[in-house]
Parts: sequence; C-alpha cells; structure tokens
Amino acid sequence: MKEIKNVYCVGRNYVLHAKELNNDIPTSPFLFSKPTHAIVQANGQEINLPSNRGAIHFETELVIHIGRSYETGMSVEELVDLMAIGIDFTLRDVQAELKQKGYPWLLAKGFSNSGVVSTFIPFPGVETCKNINFWLQKNGEQVQVGNIKDLIFDLQTIIDFTALHFGLGRGDLIFTGTPSGVGPVADGDKLSLGWGDEELGKCSIKLKAASC
Ligand code: ZN
Repeated sequence: MKEIKNVYCVGRNYVLHAKELNNDIPTSPFLFSKPTHAIVQANGQEINLPSNRGAIHFETELVIHIGRSYETGMSVEELVDLMAIGIDFTLRDVQAELKQKGYPWLLAKGFSNSGVVSTFIPFPGVETCKNINFWLQKNGEQVQVGNIKDLIFDLQTIIDFTALHFGLGRGDLIFTGTPSGVGPVADGDKLSLGWGDEELGKCSIKLKAASC
C-alpha cells in the first residue's frame, strides 16, 4: 500500500444511515479523522480488534485516494487517482458515551485497525461509480450495499470542503460515509469487501483484549 498521509472520514452522509442512528440530517459536511496508524489493508489476514470496549460496528464506505495537491476548481476526476472499499470500524458504545459528553470521537473511531481498506483500483470517475454498488459480506451473507449516487454531499462537495478547512494533497484518503445497515462484528467473522462483481479485499476478525 502507498504511503497514506491524512485520513478524513465523512459522518452521516447517507439519509437512511443518519436515521438508523437517530441523527439529524446534516446541512453541511460532517467530518472527523483517523490516525494513519488505524489503517490496515485487508489481504485475507486476521485483523485484531478490541474485545473489551463494547460493541464494534462495521461501516462500509467508498474510499478515495487523492493523487495530487488540491487547487481551487479541480474536478474529482483530476484529483482522485485511486479508490478502494473500506470499513470505518466504530466502537459504538464508546461513541454513544462520547456523544453524550460532547467529546470528540477519536477514541471510538481512531483505534488500531479501525480503518480497513481493500486493494486500491484506478478511480473510474464519478459517473461510473454511480452505476456500481459497493458491498460488504459477513460470513457469506451480504450485510451492506451502497452507491455514491445516494450521498447527501457528493464527492466534489466533500473534496472542496475538506480542502478548504483542512488541506488536501497527494496521499490523503477520504472515507466518504456509510449507507444504512451498519452492524456488529464478532470474533471469527469473515468479511469480504466488494465493488460490483469483484471482491477487492477480505479479512477475518480476531477480538482481543486491548491493554490500558
Ligand atoms: Zn463512517
């Protein structure tokens, strides 16, 4: 995998997902980030996640890789060189507690292996992406399916917003948000990430007590 710089994630970017967690539909993009240490590529291996921090939910997302420095007016196709399907793993109980306290989400979203990505493929352009669904299978059963045509804030809006507020350049990733259907993982679950007819990544889950 290429060197990753900043990792941005969009929250509540699909109407049905915002509703399933009883959140309001945002009126401007809602972003958070993950440390680069959180990122792991799903190459068929076992991925360790914490067993002692409450429920862990999968959120399956289309992930874009930025290929060059952002300049005002650039299109998605000019900026994005690669894409992958990813999982934004979330400690849902920890997140609920943080939300209640009004604290940042880092503890719930930034733990080790919380940002899973498949193999990267050349970005085929926004219009092509709208014709191909991304999906997650858990133990052979499809648990999430999404399409970026249903995004509340489209890729261009997310890119422009991110660049304006935080900066955007080569090596940055954006997790673009999850559709509805998020749910828990358990020890031994086998996950498969795909795009259209293709499986782009797979892994199995090993739950292990995280220290401290
Ligand atoms: Zn997410």
